[in-house]
Amino acid sequence: MAANPADARPVFKRPTVQELGFDPEVLRARYLAEREKRLRPDGNAQYREVTGDLERFIDDPYIETEIHRDPIVEEMEVLIVGGGFGGMLAAARLQESGVTNFRIVERGGDFGGTWYWNRYPGAQCDIESYIYLPLLEETGYMPKEKYSFAPEIFAHAQRIGRHFNLYERACFQTQIETSTWDEATARWQVRTDRGDHFKARFVIMCSGPLNRPKLPAIPGIESFQGHTFHTSRWDYDYTGGDSTGNLHKLGDKRVAIIGTGATGIQCVPAVGRYAKQLYVFQRTPSAIDERGNKPTDPEWAKSLTSGWQARRNHNFASILSGIPQEEDLVADRWTDLFKALGELLAIPTDSGLSAEDLALMAEIADFRKMNGIRDRVEKLVQNPAAAEALKPWYKQWCKRPTFNDDFLPTFNRPNVTLVDTGGAGVERVTAHGIVVNGVEYPVDCLIFATGFEVGTAYTRRAEFEVYGRDGQSLSAYWANGMRTYHGFLSHGFPNCFHMGLTQTGLAPNLTYMLNWQAIHISYIVSQVLGCGAQTVETTPEAEMEWVRTVRQPGMMSSYLKGCTPGYYNAEGKADRGEGFFEGHFPGGPVQFYDMLGAWREQGDMDGLAVK
Ligand code: NDP
Repeated sequence: MAANPADARPVFKRPTVQELGFDPEVLRARYLAEREKRLRPDGNAQYREVTGDLERFIDDPYIETEIHRDPIVEEMEVLIVGGGFGGMLAAARLQESGVTNFRIVERGGDFGGTWYWNRYPGAQCDIESYIYLPLLEETGYMPKEKYSFAPEIFAHAQRIGRHFNLYERACFQTQIETSTWDEATARWQVRTDRGDHFKARFVIMCSGPLNRPKLPAIPGIESFQGHTFHTSRWDYDYTGGDSTGNLHKLGDKRVAIIGTGATGIQCVPAVGRYAKQLYVFQRTPSAIDERGNKPTDPEWAKSLTSGWQARRNHNFASILSGIPQEEDLVADRWTDLFKALGELLAIPTDSGLSAEDLALMAEIADFRKMNGIRDRVEKLVQNPAAAEALKPWYKQWCKRPTFNDDFLPTFNRPNVTLVDTGGAGVERVTAHGIVVNGVEYPVDCLIFATGFEVGTAYTRRAEFEVYGRDGQSLSAYWANGMRTYHGFLSHGFPNCFHMGLTQTGLAPNLTYMLNWQAIHISYIVSQVLGCGAQTVETTPEAEMEWVRTVRQPGMMSSYLKGCTPGYYNAEGKADRGEGFFEGHFPGGPVQFYDMLGAWREQGDMDGLAVK
């Protein structure tokens, strides 16, 4: 008789509560109870679009000189929508492939995108500067620190603009209103709020994934009589100072900050340092690990050899995709987190451990990590009630991990008060204050650190409509979810490419993915131009197959289902295709961009119709 394969399985001895030093049952129950407190029926509808009266929240406070110019009527090969790193990489890679007849249209007053808008004090990138800042070797720049602050990143965007002569091709302070395909001329007719009329053979949409600020629909927002703004439009005229701090005008002000996500935790320390009184309104605490920033070692910088940035980026993306690497070049908290996860994910093939045992091992590792995060709160925050409220009770990937050394100690200041809303959120805004649990906190200034739209319609976030063949709108075509081939092209919308998080390979380092997307799009554009064709478009079959591929549940799907709500899981409504992790290539970024490389290598434009 054949042996039962289960008999051959290694035995995983389940650790006891004494061995662990904590009780998993207790933690499971606590996580569930905290999630329940935060669940709400309205999901994404709890936020208000910044239109009508609220549109003032997205006015540009950074414009020094308003541009006055006549409308432009012009034909071009490529029109790039957006002057953030996506648009700039598209422009740089187009130039490299010999396409130089392009224009960039940008709503802001300069290049930079995210880093043009997000100038709040303390703004910093969580991803290592040596891989996040694009085109370092091309521009000959070396960041000053391992994690760059916003001014350095914005200055780098300007450097790229100068290096690639992009300023002469940019239309700033210009908002596109419509983009319409004209079959007769095989051109996109693009019209702007300045009366421009661009006729472009190709359009590349790089409007960004977290570009449109969102506000909570808290009753009474409009009635607030004090000063108010969103973190992505910081009002330095009001606060004084700049991104590096010195908010001296807040010395006699009572300030409220709503939101303790990645942005809130970065700006709270600076405001706490200067405001007469700061109230921080928290709904869910962030998990905050050490930052550990350090200056760039000049000797290390000198030792780098050609191609180092791409190698480092590939190494980081591989580790974060669970692909074992001999060396961890970035070696930071991100790679630590993923290496721990990767080790667990690697077990099944060799070990024969049951799926149940593996899930338990992963859960124990997760509990240990979060216990460490909670211990850190206790060490850094002196007031026991505040420390208790600042502890996150969820699994480590439920919300975006954050890294900061200044936020928690800010609550030791006598002028800073944490107002924990117990998962319910702010109750009401009055003419002069913020109400939580029936208590009104009087303030002069209300700052919304409440993030950006995720999961709303693509064209709403792009802020204009795209009309393809036969007048079909992209909003209608994507009404039941995006439909693309490889994330770039949609059937019925010839020559219109998308960049960003449109059914591609999502990577924690966004510039890594934008770079590969730019290389891919530039290849297709140069191929089409090179053979004298007019249009490139995906076939319906290729598009259908790709949509099927990206709608398979990814690694994060089941994990996020039991999570506390947030934009990662469509505010607790995972599986509706609206969460940040839904609808991407399920194999991860390295496999995705390798696959695109092989596709280019093959050279037959498989899945596309070139006419
Ligand atoms: P988030 O969406 O992450 O955070 C919004 C905050 O507002 C949350 O704390 C949320 O609470 C809170 N909130 C929303 N509604 C209410 C309400 N009614 N009452 C009280 N609080 C409320 O936005 P962020 O701007 O912080 O970050 C967005 C993303 O931008 C990040 O996740 C990250 O990807 C990126 N970013 C990256 C940085 C970097 O270093 N690379 C730095 C900053 C941002 P709740 O959690 O309960 O929903």
